[in-house]
Amino acid sequence: MSILVFLEQRDGKLRPVSREALGEASRLAKQLGCDVVGVCLAAADPGLAALGDAGADRVLLATDARFARYEGATYAAAVVQAVKSASPKAVLFAASSMGRDLAPRVAARLGVGLASDCVALSIMDFALQARRPVFAGKAFQTLRFPGTPAMATLRPKVFAAVTGAGKTAAVSALEVTLPVSRVTVRDVVAQSGGKVDLTESEIIVSGGRGVKGPEHFKLIEDLAEALGATVGASRAVVDAGWRPHSEQVGQTGKTVSPKLYVAVGISGAIQHLAGMSSSRCIVAINKDPEAPIFKIADYGLVGDLFEVVPALTEAVRKINAHA
Ligand code: FAD
Repeated sequence: MSILVFLEQRDGKLRPVSREALGEASRLAKQLGCDVVGVCLAAADPGLAALGDAGADRVLLATDARFARYEGATYAAAVVQAVKSASPKAVLFAASSMGRDLAPRVAARLGVGLASDCVALSIMDFALQARRPVFAGKAFQTLRFPGTPAMATLRPKVFAAVTGAGKTAAVSALEVTLPVSRVTVRDVVAQSGGKVDLTESEIIVSGGRGVKGPEHFKLIEDLAEALGATVGASRAVVDAGWRPHSEQVGQTGKTVSPKLYVAVGISGAIQHLAGMSSSRCIVAINKDPEAPIFKIADYGLVGDLFEVVPALTEAVRKINAHA
């Protein structure tokens, strides 16, 4: 018996979300007394043997030039074959852009249910239980799975990766038959221009309509730079064309769970909260003391962002200079 974890690679490098999923799988596997098996699709081995340290007992590797870039139908066909050959009790994916596209395809082909964007997993009566936000994060749902395998996607940055698991992951080749693809992915152009992906950022400073124009986003960028953070934005800002959609946080943008989320000039509409309320520490800066963002903020600063943000940036720079 095993828990199968889909190991995501991009440009031949394993993504940190895969280690988070492995960490959670090994925690669950201890309770179930089963193995953690990774499955990776790549053009070449991205260094899978090292994943024993992250909790994997075995890794199945399917190599093919067509796996160099993600293409949903090809990947789904291969993962379905991996699931059939491993017969796992559960299959875990990261709720990354890739996982969100791939997991439903795999679940549909296997005819099983999928719990998406989970924020907690547990074992009850020897079976997997998943907790996930619903109604844009206003409530949480706990799900059990009627069939096998149980399938879930895990919200990035919520689950802890493990190191020093002390295992050596045996890597074995997985032979897969790939369908004739109707789509060829020729190139993937990163919109974020080499910046850290928002979903993988430890610290995010997001600006909203209160910033009043694209020219003032320098304030947000400066604070982000001082904190070593990534810049995010509300939809109002993206719709206005001030920032690219790749920076949008929320229901129709990215779901993030950084250690620190600083919301500047953002009112805290439910659709924005849906994408960031699971952040570990939320700091809100807003001139309106009644702004809804303060209801979920750990620290609230009522004031004009044009005064508060430069002062904060200066203070952080001073601390950095003495560190
Ligand atoms: P506003 O609501 O206009 O808030 C601006 C804030 O700035 C106010 O609270 C104001 O007090 C403050 N402010 C103004 N000036 C200053 C100043 N000088 N100093 C300090 N504070 C100041 N939104 C998202 O963000 N992400 C989504 O993914 C998303 N998806 C959506 C999906 C649907 C189907 C719908 C209907 C809406 C969605 N929205 C989303 C939009 C959402 O409802 C809000 O309209 C949006 O989040 C508002 O953005 P905002 O907070 O930047 O702007």
